[in-house]
Amino acid sequence: MRIDQAKSILVLGGTAEAASLAKKLVANRDLRVITSLAGRTQRPAAIEGEVRSGGFGGVDGLCAYLDAEKIDLLIDATHPFAKQISAHARAAAFRTGIRLECVERPPWMPQKGDNWISVAGPDDAALALPSAARAFLALGRQHLEAFYARDDVHFVVRMVDAPPALLPFKNHELILARAGHDKACERALFQSYKISHLVCRNSGGARGSAKLAAARSLGLPVIMIERDLRQ
Ligand code: NAP
Repeated sequence: MRIDQAKSILVLGGTAEAASLAKKLVANRDLRVITSLAGRTQRPAAIEGEVRSGGFGGVDGLCAYLDAEKIDLLIDATHPFAKQISAHARAAAFRTGIRLECVERPPWMPQKGDNWISVAGPDDAALALPSAARAFLALGRQHLEAFYARDDVHFVVRMVDAPPALLPFKNHELILARAGHDKACERALFQSYKISHLVCRNSGGARGSAKLAAARSLGLPVIMIERDLRQ
C-alpha cells in the first residue's frame, strides 16, 4: 500500500485489519490517522489514532467529510460483506480525486476434510438446512430473518451484542460472544450444543477460521454463504 505524500488518512474500518493498519500508521507521527466506524457495535475494540463513528450520509456526506478534514488518502479496510460503504468509497474517491487504497481480505478456501455447501445468501442457507438440524448461526443479527420460518430446526445463535428484543425463532439459544480464536474451544462449544450444521459467511481472516477448523474436526457440514455467488 502506498502512503507516500499522504498527510491525513481516513481508514474505513470496523475490522481487525483496519485496527492493525491504524496502529501501524499512527507510528508515523507526521500522519493524521482517522478510523471511521459505522457505530453498530456497542463496545468496539480499542483503536489507535482518531476515531469517528456513524454513517456519513451517503456519497455526498463522505465527500463532504473528506473535504472538511482535508483527507488526502482514503483506505477501505471494511469487512468484505460491507458492500455499500465500499461502493461509496469508490464513488467518493472518483468524485473528489482522492486516492483510494483497498485492504482485501481473501476468502477462506475449503481444505481436505471440509464439507461445505456453498450458497449465495441467507435465504439459500435457510433452505439448505435439513429438518431437525441443530444449526449454529455465526451471523450478524441483520442476517437472521431468513431462518425465522424454519421452526423445524433448533438454532444456536452467536452474536456480539444482545438483540433489543427476543429473536422470533421458535427454537433457539443465544450466545453473546465474539467468534472464538481457538479451535478446541469452538469444538467444545459445538459439542456442548450438539450442533449438526454450522452456518456462516465466507468472511475470510484469521479470527473466524477457528470455527471452520472445529467443524472440520467434527465432520460437521458448513453452509457457507459465499461472496458474490449470486448471478
Ligand atoms: P454497509 O452495508 O456496507 O454500509 C451501510 C452503511 O453504513 C453505509 O452506507 C454507511 O452509511 C455506514 N457505514 C458502513 N461502514 C461504515 C464505516 N466504516 N464508517 C462510517 N459509516 C459506515 O456496511 P455493513 O455491512 O452494515 O457493515 C458496517 C460496518 O461494520 C463496516 O464498517 C464493516 O467494516 C463492519 N463489519 C461488517 C461486517 C459485516 O458482516 N457486514 C462484519 C464485521 C464488521 P452512510 O451511507 O450514511 O455513510
